[in-house]
Amino acid sequence: MRLNNLRVNLLFFSFAYIISVFIFTFFSYRFFINSFNHIEEKINKRNITTFLKSVDKSLNNIKNITVDYAIWDDTYKFVNDTNKEYIHENFRDGSNTLEDLQINTIMIINNENKVLYSTYFDSLFDDNKKFEYFISNKLKEKKNFTGILTFNKIPFFLSKSVILKSDRSGTTRGSLIIIKFLDSKELSIENESLFKTISFDFIEQEKSLAYTMKGFENIKVVTQLQELETTNKIQFYDFDKQFLFSIKTINENLVISQGKDIIVVFNLIGSLILLVIFSIVFQNQRLILNQNKILNKKIIKRTRQLNRAYKNLKSKNRELFKIANLDALTGINNRASYFSRSINTLKESNKSYSEFAVLIIDIDYFKKINDTYSHSVGDKVLKSFTQTVGELISEDMIFGRIGGEEFCITIYNKDEEDIYRLSEQIRTRCVNTPVIVDDIVVKYTVSIGIAMKKSATQTIDEILHNADLMLYKAKEGGRNRVIRR
Ligand code: GH3
Ligand code: MG
Ligand code: MG
Repeated sequence: MRLNNLRVNLLFFSFAYIISVFIFTFFSYRFFINSFNHIEEKINKRNITTFLKSVDKSLNNIKNITVDYAIWDDTYKFVNDTNKEYIHENFRDGSNTLEDLQINTIMIINNENKVLYSTYFDSLFDDNKKFEYFISNKLKEKKNFTGILTFNKIPFFLSKSVILKSDRSGTTRGSLIIIKFLDSKELSIENESLFKTISFDFIEQEKSLAYTMKGFENIKVVTQLQELETTNKIQFYDFDKQFLFSIKTINENLVISQGKDIIVVFNLIGSLILLVIFSIVFQNQRLILNQNKILNKKIIKRTRQLNRAYKNLKSKNRELFKIANLDALTGINNRASYFSRSINTLKESNKSYSEFAVLIIDIDYFKKINDTYSHSVGDKVLKSFTQTVGELISEDMIFGRIGGEEFCITIYNKDEEDIYRLSEQIRTRCVNTPVIVDDIVVKYTVSIGIAMKKSATQTIDEILHNADLMLYKAKEGGRNRVIRR
């Protein structure tokens, strides 16, 4: 049973441990993933800002070049038809001006949007005229402009500036436009520390998560944070709020992927700590169970000891009872016990109006037996007499030794004749039962006095006294006889 308890405990603890580990792992995983996601979001936002700043820087760079060329007396003179050498001086074959400036197109247009001059480095279009037409039309309302546009799904930086004299005086006759195509590969290389891949995308994504970056009015960013990677769509719009294109960036979630190892280690350590805690509690439980086992054993041992002591006490009590109530030599009631039991029986007989009688039996010439054969033979006679009487009387009669060789029998609920007959039987049986000790045959006789209760007021002493008187008469009459009153 106790072993079963231990087994049930072990099962319970194992179950509780598994559940605890499960709950611990679940919540720690959620906690870490939430934190990591938060970190990833922050990193991503910072990367976007850095990226857009670099875009802004590039645009500024283009703008500076554009202003440099537009606010220049040579260009001014060229649009005013007074500098024929301008193109040859600046853009003749082999001058590598565009390559050096890291731009793709320079366009000079007059106030009527007619292209006066254009030159390309690495043109991406089949028909540059269409491109030029698109640009001049698109920007006809804008005197100065710097921004991003697309044509035939090719995004580019563009800057337009009115052409003035170097001191910014003069009447504007035209504008200078500089264009630099955006190249996703180039962007990828330039920003490889920020994003794993950068590509262009021409489908607008409407999402509530989109947010506008500070300082970039025409840009919306849609971010998708997945388990393994974060995808951004940096959506560019033109000045008419028309969607142009997206720069799609993909980045690995390094914090999450590396953090997973931390989660595993953390959970392992957590599970181990839980295991230690559960083991300690379980060990304590086992200790308590063991202590209980030992205690139970002790209790059983103590109970056995107590039982033994109790049995001992009982037998001692019996002995004490014997000592207190029985005669040591013959084993029948002693004087005190005889009297107390007889008083009770007398009361009973008074209640039930039944007969009550007392017999006194005295062994005749007993002193002589002692003197003739020795005291021990006398004892044997006393014992033999007790046994002889015991065989003749019934259980409900009170038989007691009240003196040396004097005995009494209290008889209840028997009529006088029956009592007399019993007395005679005792007397004759004693005559016929000599005591034989070592070939010596000791004969003895008894004298008996009978007294019947005459009224309910009589005490035991009175009745005994009457019986004694009868005994005296029996002795006087020659002994070995029964006298009744
Ligand atoms: P009577 O016929 O008149 O009764 O004569 P008796 O000799 O029997 O009476 P008596 O009273 O003169 O003597 C009783 C004797 O019983 C005296 C005593 O030594 C003896 N006696 C008393 N108690 C014991 C006992 O326990 N054992 C033995 N062996 N003798 C005892
Ligand atoms: Mg006597
Ligand atoms: Mg006698």
